[in-house]
Amino acid sequence: MKKNKILVVGGAGYIGSHMVKDLLDAGYPVMVLDDLSTGHRELLTGGDFVEGNLGDSDLLDRLFSTHRISTVMHFAAFSLVGESMENPLKYYHNNTASTTTLLRAMIRHGIKRFIFSSTASVYGEPVQVPITETHPCNPNNPYGASKLAVERMLQDCDAAYALKTISLRYFNAAGADASGTIGELHTPETHLIPLILKVASGERENIKVFGTDYPTPDGTCIRDYIHVSDLTRAHLLALENLLKGGESAVYNLGNNRGYSVRDVIKMARDVTGKPIPAIEAHRRPGDPATLIAGSDKIKESLGWKPRYEDLETIIETAWQWHQKNPTGRSAP
Ligand code: UDP
Repeated sequence: MKKNKILVVGGAGYIGSHMVKDLLDAGYPVMVLDDLSTGHRELLTGGDFVEGNLGDSDLLDRLFSTHRISTVMHFAAFSLVGESMENPLKYYHNNTASTTTLLRAMIRHGIKRFIFSSTASVYGEPVQVPITETHPCNPNNPYGASKLAVERMLQDCDAAYALKTISLRYFNAAGADASGTIGELHTPETHLIPLILKVASGERENIKVFGTDYPTPDGTCIRDYIHVSDLTRAHLLALENLLKGGESAVYNLGNNRGYSVRDVIKMARDVTGKPIPAIEAHRRPGDPATLIAGSDKIKESLGWKPRYEDLETIIETAWQWHQKNPTGRSAP
């Protein structure tokens, strides 16, 4: 089965590009489909590349008729909670409607395995932490809702077309490949750890702490940070499972440990040795106070074991990448 390609949709993005590298390292032939709206060609370490959008039905038909694809991995989503509150239709269009186009093309061409990048945002404000997969799903922002809609479609597609799917609900992806050759590159950057590192490197003056009155011990939001290479490792295990004939499933991916915004800033000061000034700011709409994953299910079912669990290592790998990649390179 390894001679059939893995199609990585969104393979030029942050998590997608790490996936491409790890698939190639594991010996899988890879094809990337990415419209480069937020991805970067220079993050691709190999494989075939097609520039295009996942909502382009004709392009998908051409691609699926000319290449033998065993499995589709789908990373091509908009993923900013704040932006999704301001422009929900952008999210429902790309993340939900275009994914329907992709799934329909797969079914037309008899491709029956799909690995989906889902998110902890499907849960909404937690009623209990750690959050396990049985926690109710009540997303409190359009981003989470646009992803949950796909998860629901996937259940129906399994029942109707025997499409086997694994949805991975990521908590906060962070860090960079240990090689230092690829890493997080968003334009504009909105994520906490890369923004903090921009302050450390002198590209920004300070980091804003969004909300200091949350019901958490230090008043700032708590998140469960997971290293991007631990995420991609989980995808490889999911892929092996589907290729062996495994059933559809949904898994959380996090480290069962929460860090507040202030904890992250403090750790980044320790790792970088820089002062990193922080200023208090208003809450960002759509942010739940605490998100911590219960990830036992994937450990038990697929044998997933994180290798970079501690925040220090996560920030160290991000810092290693950041220092090699001045901001100028990320300008479109
Ligand atoms: N955050 C912050 N200042 C920033 C960016 C983010 O305080 O400049 C907070 C944000 O409110 C959230 C946490 O950091 O509580 C992680 O945000 P990020 O955007 O990195 O990921 P998200 O949780 O939205 O997926």
